[in-house]
Amino acid sequence: MTIKHCAACGKKFEPRPQARNQTYCSAKECQRERRRNEQNLRRQTKQVSVSNSRNNKDRAGKNAKYMSNYRNRNPAYADANRKLQAARNQKRRATVIVNEAASAPSSPLPSGRYRLKPILADGIVSEASWIVEITIISGGS
Ligand SMILES: [Zn+2]
Repeated sequence: MTIKHCAACGKKFEPRPQARNQTYCSAKECQRERRRNEQNLRRQTKQVSVSNSRNNKDRAGKNAKYMSNYRNRNPAYADANRKLQAARNQKRRATVIVNEAASAPSSPLPSGRYRLKPILADGIVSEASWIVEITIISGGS
């Protein structure tokens, strides 16, 4: 076991075997200082790491067509993906409708004219619509 000097308090300490690069002792104040320094470092390097991101450069540059070429070379993959995406789209559409149906207004709708769109059996909102006049007869509950 090697003995190190804490970067904060300067006292000798024995690094934990799980963290051999440990530079701060386990004292509460020293751990707090370590976190503060790491946070500052992360804040300072964030911008740099984003602009240096290899993925971002490749997506915009020489590898811009990578996924497009990949799909052309692997039609089975592209087809399976297309079906999965269609299923996700369908699910999202259905979810939106369910939410609309479930969102009853907290107070009763006032009298007035409304546009009424039927929801078809497959859950799709019809493009056809009615303009209806609704008159509230009795007061709200
Ligand atoms: Zn310390």
